[in-house]
Amino acid sequence: MEIIATGEQATGMMNTIETAVRSGFFADSWTVGLIILCFFWLIALIWVVKDVNARSENIAFQILAIVLVVVLTPVFGLPLYVALRPRGWKWDKTVWRNIVELQGTVCETCGSIQSIEHRCCSKCGDTLQHPCRECGEFYAQAYEYCPFCGAPNIDQ
Ligand SMILES: [Zn+2]
Ligand SMILES: [Zn+2]
Repeated sequence: MEIIATGEQATGMMNTIETAVRSGFFADSWTVGLIILCFFWLIALIWVVKDVNARSENIAFQILAIVLVVVLTPVFGLPLYVALRPRGWKWDKTVWRNIVELQGTVCETCGSIQSIEHRCCSKCGDTLQHPCRECGEFYAQAYEYCPFCGAPNIDQ
C-alpha cells in the first residue's frame, strides 16, 4: 500500500516537473539567471572603470583593466585586476607632484599645501618659518640647517 502511494507520489512529481518544463518555467529561470549575471558583470565593469580612473593615469592600463573584466568575466578578471592595479590613488601622486613643482610645503598643523615662501600658514595662521639664530633669515622649520648661512637648526 505504501509502495503504491510512493509510486503515485513520484508520478505526481514527474507530472509537476513535466508541466513546469512545458510551461517554460526553466527557460524563464535561465533568463533570470542570465539577467542577474549581466547585472553583476555591469556592476563589476562600472567599479573597475571608476577604480582604475582614480588610480592610474596610464591609458593603456585603463583599457587593459576594462578588457580583463569584459573578456575574462568578473570571476577571473576582477581578482587579476586587483592584483595588477597600482596601490595608491592618483590624487595623492598629483598632490605630491604639485608640492614638488610649486616648491611647497605642508602645514603640520592643518595639513594644507603652502608655498615654501610663506612664513605663516595661509589657512590656519600657524608659523611655517622662523628666523635663523645666526643670520636672522627666515626658513622652513623642517630644515635641519639654515639654507642661508649653514647654521644648524637648533629650534627644530
Ligand atoms: Zn595651517
Ligand atoms: Zn642662517
